[in-house]
Amino acid sequence: MSKTIAINAGSSSLKWQLYVMPEETVVAKGIVERIGLNDSIFTIKYGEDQKYETIVDIADHDVAVKMLLDQLIDLKILASYDEITGVGHRVVHGGEFYDRSVIIDDEVLKNIEDLAEFAPLHNPANAMGIKAFKHLLPEIISVAVFDTAFHATMPEVSYLYSLPREYYEDFKVRKYGFHGTSHQFVAQRAAEMLGKPIEETKIITCHLGNGASITAVDGGISVDTSMGFTPLAGVTMGTRAGDIDASTLPFLMEKLDLNINEMVDTLNKKSGLLGLSGISSDMRDLEANSDKPEVRVTLDIFADRIRKYIGSYVTVLNGVDAIVFTAGIGENDAAIREQIINGMSWFGCEIDPEQNAKRGEDTVISTPESKIKVFMIPTDEELVIARDVEALRS
Ligand code: ADP
Repeated sequence: MSKTIAINAGSSSLKWQLYVMPEETVVAKGIVERIGLNDSIFTIKYGEDQKYETIVDIADHDVAVKMLLDQLIDLKILASYDEITGVGHRVVHGGEFYDRSVIIDDEVLKNIEDLAEFAPLHNPANAMGIKAFKHLLPEIISVAVFDTAFHATMPEVSYLYSLPREYYEDFKVRKYGFHGTSHQFVAQRAAEMLGKPIEETKIITCHLGNGASITAVDGGISVDTSMGFTPLAGVTMGTRAGDIDASTLPFLMEKLDLNINEMVDTLNKKSGLLGLSGISSDMRDLEANSDKPEVRVTLDIFADRIRKYIGSYVTVLNGVDAIVFTAGIGENDAAIREQIINGMSWFGCEIDPEQNAKRGEDTVISTPESKIKVFMIPTDEELVIARDVEALRS
């Protein structure tokens, strides 16, 4: 029996999930929040609804990982450090280096750190998590699972921007795409639900969480996706603007006396659902206030942008067998799913309200007559990480 830990390290947080492999059972999971700040919050959930929580100052990721492993031993979830046979790390940006998960050696770690230029908020934090585990478990295999890897198959026609070509050649400015593990996982499940080999399917996957992206998957391969050089592009998100006319930037910078970093920060953190509604970036808050006109239009814009991407990806794929909804909003918000699909009746796409009201499990939410199947499929990025560790370990 081996235990694999899947890690998602942020600049001040460390989310983890511990699996028994190859059974794929989750034995414990948790999060360390406010790392490097006062009153860090350390939580472990395990067993039947058991929870360990403590608030203590945790100076850095090394301290967080040591505390985590020691606490897992104290709680008898682990007998010793040796029980961990693999560590998998979510890494946001793999640039053009990686089209799949890889074992992390010095060169891989250096590439991840160098790619901070493309993902300044994420890659340095991911690297901190990697180093912390390497310090404590130097002999244990560690694997990087990249958000960008699934999209490495996109053709030039999708990934090149209509900019002078040398910007791509000299600086690698292109579309990379994100949420790859999630899109790949739900596309695979959707093919199973269609009862066809994935090679024979055309699937559009909608990962709708705080960040949101839509992907066109042809025969199991990502051929286009809505996020871009960074996760800022594409549909309206919790706090990100998604696609806008670049000329609004210099105009607003002058009007508001902002520098470029402040402007991009506004597009990343103060826009999207939050900026439009003036209330919240959290879809639950918006659904609770949907009678307010500014909230109603925010929800309408969210649905509209997603529907437009789906429509354009029907042409990219020249057909579609299934549309999949996943992640926090995609899995839980029946009203938004219905609104998106109801605008697509011309395609012969029809929601079954009773099926759409179901929660939790993989569900067909379209009617039996619907020409395009619509699925709700809970994503499981941590499981993909654990599986990739297991595959590279053997
Ligand atoms: P992250 O990108 O942070 O992983 P999640 O996938 O957890 O995000 O999605 C978070 C989003 O899901 C939030 O906007 C949240 O409001 C939304 N969400 C969660 N539960 C529900 C629900 N029951 N109804 C509507 N939206 C929900």
